[in-house]
Amino acid sequence: MGAYITDLKVIAAQATDREEENDHFLRFIQRRNGAAIDVLVHDINDSVSAGIDCTQCGNCCKSLVINITAAEIEGLAAYLGADVATVKHDYIEESMGGQYFINTMPCHFLSDNKCRIYEQRFTECRAFPHLHKPGFKERFLGTLLHYGTCPIVYNVIEQLKDKTGFRE
Ligand code: SF4
Ligand code: SF4
Repeated sequence: MGAYITDLKVIAAQATDREEENDHFLRFIQRRNGAAIDVLVHDINDSVSAGIDCTQCGNCCKSLVINITAAEIEGLAAYLGADVATVKHDYIEESMGGQYFINTMPCHFLSDNKCRIYEQRFTECRAFPHLHKPGFKERFLGTLLHYGTCPIVYNVIEQLKDKTGFRE
């Protein structure tokens, strides 16, 4: 995992220690140009994501509510060689509003910290922690919620503190 900090205990402890610092950084980012911040975050995220092996972590699969589309349920059923009704019964919860999501936390498909359906994992699984998308500044509060649990988020934010001059 390269030179990045990936020990989940260390990251959780630092999240507690740096709560006030991160609160200041949140306000610091809100005063910056959003497009320029996106360029920086995307650049940092490219290198951090390449240097951290999610298959050795799996921490987000223990705590995220993963929304799933009807098409993804069909894809999963085909992948597992099961029928859609069985997949829905065994793995999926449906909200009153008709939204589907995985019915357990940690996720059913996490085994030995690895995703058993990795090639077929859902769009939301692939997109997390969303640091490749535009609008980091607007989403920063939500991203900070994962600072103490996701090594990618932790390392990107720490580098961003340096590259924005927040921490000189
Ligand atoms: S489907 Fe795989 S990647 Fe997605 S939450 Fe479950 S274990 Fe994690
Ligand atoms: S996205 Fe973050 S929490 Fe999820 S497996 Fe990768 S490093 Fe771990």
